[in-house]
Amino acid sequence: MGCDVTDFLQLRGLKPISVKVEDDIYVVEAAGGWVPTACPECKVGRLYGHGTQLQTFRDTPSHGKTVRINVQRRRYQCQACRKTLFDPIPDLDSKRLATRRLIQHIRKYCLRETFASVARQVDMDEKTIRHVFDDYVAELASTSRFQTPRYLGIDELKIIGAYRAMITNVERNTIFDLRESRSKADLLAYFQVLPDKDKVEWVAMDMYHVYRQVVRQALPHARIVVDRFHIERMANNVLEKMRKRFRKTLPERQRLRLKDERRLLLKRQQDLTPEGMAKMLAWFRQFPLLGEAHAIKEGFMAIWDLRDRCSAEVALDTWHGNIGSELQADFKDILTATTNWREEILAYFENPITNGYTESLNGITKGMNRMGRGYSFEVIRARMLYEGKALKDAIMVVEEPVKDDHSIGFFRRATESLPRQRTVRRAVLYGPSMATLAKLLEEGHFE
Ligand SMILES: [Zn+2]
Repeated sequence: MGCDVTDFLQLRGLKPISVKVEDDIYVVEAAGGWVPTACPECKVGRLYGHGTQLQTFRDTPSHGKTVRINVQRRRYQCQACRKTLFDPIPDLDSKRLATRRLIQHIRKYCLRETFASVARQVDMDEKTIRHVFDDYVAELASTSRFQTPRYLGIDELKIIGAYRAMITNVERNTIFDLRESRSKADLLAYFQVLPDKDKVEWVAMDMYHVYRQVVRQALPHARIVVDRFHIERMANNVLEKMRKRFRKTLPERQRLRLKDERRLLLKRQQDLTPEGMAKMLAWFRQFPLLGEAHAIKEGFMAIWDLRDRCSAEVALDTWHGNIGSELQADFKDILTATTNWREEILAYFENPITNGYTESLNGITKGMNRMGRGYSFEVIRARMLYEGKALKDAIMVVEEPVKDDHSIGFFRRATESLPRQRTVRRAVLYGPSMATLAKLLEEGHFE
């Protein structure tokens, strides 16, 4: 081809010689021109020519075509330490047969498109795209390290067909991490090497025995508290099940009239309007057992209005005793749970921490599953954890004294006033804000 190719590549250390078009590929023949000046290993040995090797690099697509660059690389060997090296081409990636800008391009697109689609676009195999992605995520993790939470939460989400563990910062309402599985082996391995794990004082969780075992083993100094919403949900579920059971016994016409029944039953009694209350009482006249269950549910909820652990302990025991034999079966699960998790439930009265983000959680799960089509869990995880706006919304700037501040104390004359200790401002990352993520997911930001 007779066209001028001087500017085709615009890569430092690489001169294009010719450009050919083969189907949908630009094939560029190019030559390196730089000569290494010193041995990178021992720095002293002299370098000698050591033959050549043909290498093919991929570059960013151009005019809708993928780009291959063939380079006859010159090899050198160090006389002193025998290390061999190639002629330096700064704009080539050091790890893969690709230009640096192509790696940048892949990093940008691997979070937005499937690995298969990116692989097709840049004429590489899917495995390489995955490796670039893995490196990218590792780099993000080291440059955006999140502060280990003082109050840590463990929740679960069902994402693309499996339960995943979500590790949160309960104080900041941020996601600290997302783990692919919630199996004991995986979580144990994760928490055992958690940086600054001694900083975790409390762990809020639902009543899943694996979480408790893992925390006891890997974070033995941390105290466990059951998230009150999980227990409250259990009490509400009892009422829901009973309501559905009684509803079935009614003729169709009567079922239709009972429209608000669910909402009314789950509401706290003190929040009901007089009309709502009247509706519910009519309902209880028809099904006295439901009325009794409702009173027991209300008694249970009221425990969480108490202020101190001592009263709560008494109230919980009294509550257990109040459940009549005809309701034992309905309340069996919650009775078992409040027995097996008694200590962790009562711990709430020492430190009433709870996941304030429960509201955002459903939206986040739905949103993640919507964007999840075609993506792997790792991609969803990376997109959630390192979303710029969500990270920024939860950032905190702290002012800290400079360690080893030599401006203090040295060479100070008695007449001089004491210099102020210098401080530095440091941004602390807590992970992405869940409220921001929920909003972005709802707005379709990730689709
Ligand atoms: Zn050397």
